[in-house]
Amino acid sequence: MKLTVLGARGSIPVDGPEFTIYGGGTSAYLLEVADQTIFLDAGSGLMNAPEHMDGQISILLTHPHLDHLMGLCFFRHLFVAGKVVTIYGAGREIGDVQQQVDHLFAPPLWPVMVESFPADLRFSDVKETFFLGEVRVDSMEAVHPGGCTVFRISYGGKSLVYATDFEHSGDLEKRLADFAKGCDLLIYDGQYFEEEYPPRAGYGHSTPETGLRIMEEAGAGRLLLTHHDPRHTDEMLAKRERELQALCLDAAYAKRLQVIEI
Ligand SMILES: [Zn+2]
Ligand SMILES: [Zn+2]
Repeated sequence: MKLTVLGARGSIPVDGPEFTIYGGGTSAYLLEVADQTIFLDAGSGLMNAPEHMDGQISILLTHPHLDHLMGLCFFRHLFVAGKVVTIYGAGREIGDVQQQVDHLFAPPLWPVMVESFPADLRFSDVKETFFLGEVRVDSMEAVHPGGCTVFRISYGGKSLVYATDFEHSGDLEKRLADFAKGCDLLIYDGQYFEEEYPPRAGYGHSTPETGLRIMEEAGAGRLLLTHHDPRHTDEMLAKRERELQALCLDAAYAKRLQVIEI
């Protein structure tokens, strides 16, 4: 498995010299595994997607918040005639995954529907377990305003868990640890520093310290923190990263265009 960080910023894109290391594009990862090309979320980081990609493309959408979908309208592969792009997502209050995308990309919010692009765009409902070729995908629901899906992707004895927009309330921390049991990489929502969290409880996000606890409980190999708060500069994140790595060398904040082999 080869994972590329296309965007790890939370909530809204940011720009400027203070955001060059950890990046300003919102949630989007590229996972190349077996013969599959899988994107995790479709935030503005999708602008960093490679220009040439063979075969079909799958996009696993965690939820339809703007920061996880906004990259779709400029996703270069939707402009390739006949290119098969399938978006997988769970049904939400406003409807199935196609209705969620249509809700955002339609006048007056956006001038054209994404379905009018030349690619062969398809939609598929997320099941608890499904397969993309020989790659297994498991899912569980998180606590987040409007709902959010956590994905576990497994192939050839390796696995990663993508748990963004995840708030550690009730027994959910334990449930995620069970879901992530023995995974090689846990990508986890580390939006707020521990001291910032209390007044933001209920916003649907978490902290690096919680990620460390879940990583240890799950026996995960590595922790990659994602959904960086838009106010957190490179300097602030690097300082926190050093403090975290004093506790655990296998924990880090996702960096712009970082490549991780699993
Ligand atoms: Zn988000
Ligand atoms: Zn969200």
